[in-house]
Formats: sequence, C-alpha cells, structure tokens
Amino acid sequence: MTMPSDSHTTGRDPRHDVLFEPVQIGPVTARNRFYQVPHCTGFGVEKPWTQAAFRGTKAEGGWAVVSTEYCSISAESDESPYVSARLWDDEDAAALRLMTDEAHRHGALAAVELWHGGSHAEQRESRLPPLAPSQIANEHVGVLVPKAMTIADIERTQEDWVRAAVRARDAGFDIVYVYGAHTYLPTQFLSPRTNHRTDRYGGSFANRARFWLETIERVKAAIGDRCAIAVRIAADTLEGAGVEPDEGIAFVRLADPHVDLWDVTAGGLAGIERVDSGPSRFFPEGHQRQLTGWIRAATKKPVVGTGRYTDPDRMAADVASGVIDMIGAARPSIADPFLPRKIEEGRYGDVRECIGCNACYSRSIWGRHLGCTQNATAGEEHRRGWHPERFTPVADTDRDVLVVGAGPAGLECAIVLARRGFRRVHLVTADGDVGGSLRWIPKLPGLGEWGRLVDWRKGQLAALRRQVEVHTRSALTAEDVLAYGAQIVVLATGSRWAADGTNGLTSGPLPGVEHVRSLTPEQLMVNGAMIEPGEAVTVLDCEGYFVGPGIAERLALGGCQTTLMTPYSPVAPWCDQTLEGPRLRARLAAVGVVVAEGRMPADAREVVADVVVLATQRLSNDALGLELAGRATAWAAAGLDLVVSAGDCVAPRLIADAIFDGHRVGREIDAGDPSRALPYRRERPLVG
Ligand code: SF4
Repeated sequence: MTMPSDSHTTGRDPRHDVLFEPVQIGPVTARNRFYQVPHCTGFGVEKPWTQAAFRGTKAEGGWAVVSTEYCSISAESDESPYVSARLWDDEDAAALRLMTDEAHRHGALAAVELWHGGSHAEQRESRLPPLAPSQIANEHVGVLVPKAMTIADIERTQEDWVRAAVRARDAGFDIVYVYGAHTYLPTQFLSPRTNHRTDRYGGSFANRARFWLETIERVKAAIGDRCAIAVRIAADTLEGAGVEPDEGIAFVRLADPHVDLWDVTAGGLAGIERVDSGPSRFFPEGHQRQLTGWIRAATKKPVVGTGRYTDPDRMAADVASGVIDMIGAARPSIADPFLPRKIEEGRYGDVRECIGCNACYSRSIWGRHLGCTQNATAGEEHRRGWHPERFTPVADTDRDVLVVGAGPAGLECAIVLARRGFRRVHLVTADGDVGGSLRWIPKLPGLGEWGRLVDWRKGQLAALRRQVEVHTRSALTAEDVLAYGAQIVVLATGSRWAADGTNGLTSGPLPGVEHVRSLTPEQLMVNGAMIEPGEAVTVLDCEGYFVGPGIAERLALGGCQTTLMTPYSPVAPWCDQTLEGPRLRARLAAVGVVVAEGRMPADAREVVADVVVLATQRLSNDALGLELAGRATAWAAAGLDLVVSAGDCVAPRLIADAIFDGHRVGREIDAGDPSRALPYRRERPLVG
C-alpha cells in the first residue's frame, strides 16, 4: 500500500498548454513536448533493472520520451571505466528490453543513443585500438593515439551501427540515434581539426560529412519505417577550428531528409569548451539557446534543446518562439522525474527544481552509481524500492517524532516521516531559520540556485504543516530531549568546520594555529552575510571542493587581498568532477585571487595574512548523540524507544549524501535499527 504525496493543486496555467501538445517524430508520436535527453547514469547494461526502473519512473512522471545514456555499437567503442550502455549482442538487447517495456508501460517512447567514441574511446576493457579518421592523439589523454581508419574500418563501423540499430528496434526502442555530438566519431570526421584525410572521407566539407551522412542513411534504410532517426549534434564545437556554425548548419541541411529529430547541443567533451551540462555556478537556465537556436533555420523537423529548464514560463516561451519544439532535459528529469506531471496538474510548488550542482554527473561517470542532491530517490528506484512520490505508511502513526537539526538531513527526514504518515513530527533547530549550512552556502558567488534545496523543502513543510511543527531558536540539551516526550528521536545536528585546522594531510590539527587569527567558513559567513575579516586574508583549502574557492572569490569581490592556499594542484580538484573546475579557476584569476597551489604550511605561522580562513575539513556535531547514548538507561523512563543519527553528524559528507541519509532514515525508521542501512538489491552476473 502506498500514499500519494500531498499536493497543492491550483490548475495549470493555460499558457503552459503548449507544452502538452503531441509531437510527430517520423513514424512515432510523442504525447507531449517533454523529452528526457540521453544522460549517463553508471547503470548501462550492467544494472538493467536499475536502468529500467530509473527511466520508467520518469515515464510515469509524464516524460514523453526517455532515453538511455550513450550506447556503444561494438567492442571497438569501449570507453570503460566510464559506463555506457551497449548493444554489442542480443544479451545487451535483452537487458535494455526491460527499459523499453517500462517506458511503454507508462505511455512514453524509448530512445537509444547509439554511439562510437572514436579517439575518445580508451578501450580499457576491450584492449582494441581506438579508431579515428586520422592518427591524432586524444587532446585530453595524450597516451591515447588512435588507428587511422582504413576504408574497411569505415565500412565495418557503419555495418556495426546498422546492426546495433536493428537490435535496438527489436528491443523495442522507438527512437534511434546516430549520435555525433561531444566530439565523438562522426564529429571527428566532420571536423577539420581531427580529420586530416585526403581520400573521399576528408578534405572538403562534403567529404568530411560523408561518414556521418552515410551512417545516417544506412540506419534510416534499415529501421526508419518503424523507428524515428535522431541525430545529436553540436551546433558549434567551440574548439576553434572545429565544427563552426556554418558547417554545423550545412550538415543539418544535408542530412535533414534522412533525420526525424535533431537533438542540438553545443561545445566539446571536456575542458573550457564543455558547455553542455553547464553548472548553475556559470550557466543560467536556458543558456544553450544562444548557441543552438539558429539551427531552427535549417530544419522543419522537431528540434530538442536543453539548458536545465525548470521554469514552465521559459519553456513555453521558447516553444512558442519556434526555437525548439521539445524541452530537452537531463538534470531536471533527475531532480524531479514527475516534473511534466506536476506542471500538467498545475502543482508548480511541488516541482523539485534542479540546482545545477552536477553532483549527478560526478556520480554517474567512472563507474559510480548516479545520485542527485535534490532527489534522494534517483537511482534508488529498483535497488531500494524508493519512489519519488510515494511512501510506505508506518503502522503506528501516533508516536511523536523529534528531529533535532533542520539542515539538509533533518529537513529531508522530517518530510519523509510526515509523508509516511506520522502525525506529530517536531523539527527543532537552534538556528533562527531552517537550512543549516544551506543558510549561507547559496550566498557564495554563483551558488544562488543551491538555495532551491531549502526553498523546496520549506514549501513541502508548509504543505505538511498539520503534521510537522517547526521550532527555531531552540537549542536542546540531552536533558531537554529526554524530557521532550517523543518516542522516536532523529539527531541531524550536522557538522562544523574544524577550528584548529584539522586535516588529512597533517593527520591532525594544523600546528601553530593558536598563534594566528583564524576563522572557519561558518564564522565568516554569519547568517549568510560575510563579516569583514581584514585586508589580507588567506583561505586554506584542504577539501578541494566549492567552499574554499567560494569563500576566496567572495572575499576578493569584497575588496580583500585574497590568497587561496591549497595542497592540491590544480585548485579544487573535486570541481573537475562536476564540470566546474576549468571555469572556476579562470574565475578566481579574473577576480584577483592569488592562488598558492600545491602548498600546505607545516605551521600556521608561515601564512602571512591578517586572518586565515580554515576550510580544512569538517567534524561531526555528535556531542548530543554521544551523551544520549551514554544515558540509554534513562530512555525507557522517558518513553523513548529509539534514537538514531542522520547526515553529517554521523560523518560530514556531500550535501547529496547528507540528504540521502536523512531520506534513508525516514524510509527505514521502522525497520529494526535504522542506524544500519537495510541491504539493497545488487545486480551481478549469476554464477552456477
Ligand atoms: Fe540537478 Fe544537482 Fe540533482 Fe544533478 S545532482 S540533477 S545538477 S540537483
């Protein structure tokens, strides 16, 4: 038995009706304009049930099209340890059949993004040589030097593409891609930067276009009667001397008769030219419109455009303007698989808007398992059985639950507990407002959209106000907790930055820190407003993510002479996992932050500054939990059945993981000991 989420239905604004018009795509029809474009997950065909449940949930949530991630056509396109889907053989097809069945069960079309990586395919599993139009080393991995494709290689690759397309059709896919964006093999042929051939596949534009065009024609001839043919193309690879807009548009005109849908992106695969999946720190919603909008002039076929769309007004305006026909989305569909359904029903306040942090990207590449900061259920649909909108009711709704701490984990846990039916949830924080660290993090430069994490949860709490009481400015001692009268206590007391500079490089406090003036990030960012620390400030960042650089940028913008010292080189390596790194480093230079990278002081007195900001590591606020554990014999007399900790007070972690843990504890509060996560279903080859 499940419970529907509480909604505040207002009825859809008629201006958004255009988003729910069907769209003809070659031989198939999409029920509306919401198109989940291909995006990575870490699932591929290795976790077929997870893949099916993940995409199927989006189909249930109203997306008209749900796509796989990039899907390799043969062992000659192997980009492991990155996880692609594969259609190398019939077993791969059987694995993806689970996904197409789920999509169809919920009325959506299923798309597969057939792919050949060319010189980007590192071939670490297959150990075959990478293939490319010319023998030019990979620009990101210098040891990767491809074989220049012979005519026989070209012929075989096109045959592989057709074979994979036929398998895709037989596996139930409705839309089949001949994917060439992100500088993969078809673009490597099209681009004069990577194609130096002198035969009929190189030289003139017509020759460079030949490989991609022939492949499209052959796939169309093989399956075009049943499946729509989609092409994902970068309108401009932004590399300089790559595929320029004039040749991009010329290619669209050339191939248009054989193509049923254009999925338009921009930029390259990595580095500063990567603009697709642009983080909100640098790219506003709809940012790709400028780069891709002109492709409309080259085709009357449906055009899909992306840009982290979550605002239905903007979606409707861009459709009405004719620039795009379908709202392409990867991240917004992860953050809220039910986004179309909520807009359709006018439940605008329930839309869980993507914050553009790219934690999903960092978790889905290199063989990891996708997760999302906003949506704790993303990737957990199959293995944990979590649905984003439905919750299993608890048997006894009449117990009082006290949640101590209203940061990311506490907020999430309180909402889940209420959704599960608890009638009296008490969410208590010592702060003046809910949000914990998220009261100041969105005030760092470029991170304003991260405030959506708290905004959405505040909206949900307002809808659940009959079940959840929120108490601010209420610091609770262990005595207070025991006297509260709750039967269940969830501690979500968060973490703090180490005031003594504790870090993993000195494996302890930073020597000499007591002799310098120092502040932690939260001491600097009081209630979101930065205090004036002094003229010359050094930020010591040992975490390598957003806080140290964010504080440094904010200080520099405020007029401080700011140095960012970090043992890492380059600065903020974790931001390379989220596609923020290259632009972040350029931004620090632009605002005048002096970067001292690859440096770790042996003693804090070596740092010459008015004040040192210590962003070295965080420590759990676990004192309350330890004290309550020490008084376990008093629980029964206080009527207390369970005390469990969630989030950073267990171990400081990424916001996505703190929210996940709060969600998990809420889902498992009645499952024995919720401090121990229930085992989840694993997908692995059967032996014997
Ligand atoms: Fe959006 Fe961040 Fe979730 Fe990715 S992880 S979908 S960027 S909120």
